[in-house]
Amino acid sequence: MKFCLKKLLVPAAVFCALASVIPVRAQSTAQPADPAREHILLVMTDGLRWQEVFRGADPSLLTKANNDDRPVDALVRQYVRSTPQQARAALMPFLWSHIVPEGEIYGNRDKGSDAHVTNGFNFSYPGYSETLTGHADPRINSNDPTPNPNVTVFEWLNKQPGLTGQAAAFGAWSVIADAFNRQRCGFTDNAGYDPLTSIPITPRLDLLNHIKTETPRIWDDETFDAPTFYTSLEYLQAKHPRLFYLSLGETDDWAHAGNYGRYLEAANRVDMYLKRLWEFVQANPDYRGHTTLILLTDHGRGDAPVEWKSHGQKIPASKYIFIAAMGPGIPHNGEVSGGSAVTQSQIAATVAKLVGKNWNKQTPAAGQPLPGITVSH
Ligand SMILES: [Zn+2]
Repeated sequence: MKFCLKKLLVPAAVFCALASVIPVRAQSTAQPADPAREHILLVMTDGLRWQEVFRGADPSLLTKANNDDRPVDALVRQYVRSTPQQARAALMPFLWSHIVPEGEIYGNRDKGSDAHVTNGFNFSYPGYSETLTGHADPRINSNDPTPNPNVTVFEWLNKQPGLTGQAAAFGAWSVIADAFNRQRCGFTDNAGYDPLTSIPITPRLDLLNHIKTETPRIWDDETFDAPTFYTSLEYLQAKHPRLFYLSLGETDDWAHAGNYGRYLEAANRVDMYLKRLWEFVQANPDYRGHTTLILLTDHGRGDAPVEWKSHGQKIPASKYIFIAAMGPGIPHNGEVSGGSAVTQSQIAATVAKLVGKNWNKQTPAAGQPLPGITVSH
């Protein structure tokens, strides 16, 4: 659950195999995206701090008190390293071994790279709406489940020639259904505890639906990430959408709960899910060589030792986020140092540009595409 709305009911990698499956390309000039064939995988994980993304686990936060009073020895062994480079690779191995070397990542404030949200609220629904529409909207000022009055870039693209019926969205948080405006958007918008019923029910999907709806709930409005992710993967495999959106939530929930151990584990699982998505891409000719993966968060959080648990207007530094991407059309900038700030409001136009459409013409308030995005014409 997001921000103040969340009831804080606090409850009690195999990376090496991948190297042979997905080769890391040497640094080279980006191939332009072919907009007629390009696929988008837009993934967000809620409230994951740039601090952990770029520095890895913070040993000062990895204490028994921040781990539901359980020992942290195993977590220390798994995630604590002597340098930020080693620690972040331990936490998010796919991000640092594949996405960054083959693409780019903004937001390392230790290197002068600034990525931030422009909505001024620094909590979830305003962040999702900014990402999906390309602009802040002062009406989106709470996490209440109110259908988005704005049209998202997904809703618009889904009606464009060549892209009709190509969008799908999945969210662990129930309000993702509202961010896309499920009643109006015209595509699968599966969120929270809702079973997926818009595609033929295979035995696997049936089991996922049962697990999602019957597992005891910690958060009233948000599932664990696993059923949401594997449900989205079932859809991806069945329907091959060109515009795929996935929002995961545990990184935010466990941080609000003050459970740094589970927060780290959730971030590590997000990385594993990205790897699974990319394995799907490599195994499917429609997608291989024609897919861009974008990862970001809806908001940041405060600093250690206390404010890391929270975010919002009262924690100004929680406006800082990270944005990572790889695929055709994405510059091979790697880890960006310095340079101009980038914002969450640039994602919608970036998505549209990669599939050959101009979101800024449609929605003048939207941010421009990220710098250096190239498409063939
Ligand atoms: Zn939150």
